[in-house]
Amino acid sequence: MTSTAPTSADLRFCIGCGYALASSRGSSCPECGRAYDPADPRTTAATSRERRFREGLRRATATLTWGIGGVGCGAVLWGLTGGDSMFAMLAGLPLVPVAVILIAIAAMPWNPVSMHRRLTAVAASVLLISTSLPLWRLDLWPLRLSIALHHAGLERIAAEYATTEDELLKDRTARTGILGITGIRRFNGNLGLQLSGDRGGGVFLVKAMSSPASRAIWMNTNWEIDLDDGWWLVYQD
Ligand SMILES: [Zn+2]
Repeated sequence: MTSTAPTSADLRFCIGCGYALASSRGSSCPECGRAYDPADPRTTAATSRERRFREGLRRATATLTWGIGGVGCGAVLWGLTGGDSMFAMLAGLPLVPVAVILIAIAAMPWNPVSMHRRLTAVAASVLLISTSLPLWRLDLWPLRLSIALHHAGLERIAAEYATTEDELLKDRTARTGILGITGIRRFNGNLGLQLSGDRGGGVFLVKAMSSPASRAIWMNTNWEIDLDDGWWLVYQD
């Protein structure tokens, strides 16, 4: 048996630390322990420059996943607690192009990250985009999900104040689960539970109680979303 010395064509570099993997023996880097497959060139780098490029992709994937995912999760929590979704959109909108770039980086075949990390990066991007853009049918989804989850509690609050005189509604607040009601008001016979904003306006969850179709659901609304079960989500300007 003759043994052949490794040629430059055999010389590969560890993607993790740049260690020169002199021979094709072994399956993990002696320097940093990163696993590689001598038969799969995608798991090692041909040059130290390629190694640096792929290490850059790996770091960018990790950093952007944390940043984009963090803002996206924050927007979801904010919406679930009834926070003003405009703030979440204003915070997330400038990051939408970054989220698109992250999806592109995660899809690159020469990015050395695992499939699990690729999927996490895409999930983080989708979370941020879905909470930052007014997408048809997905608009305000964390807030609408919270309203659906708190349906029984909201019905109970509406029933509790259904016959309370307008004068006595002043300065009333309520809470069901993690959804806080900052004020309760009545307009055209409908009961409005204020979720965000101040006395001048904001987001209201309106329970339609007596209003005929010809009368306005709420006052000075910028938008109204019919939640299909007698409840409306409106923005009073
Ligand atoms: Zn290594």
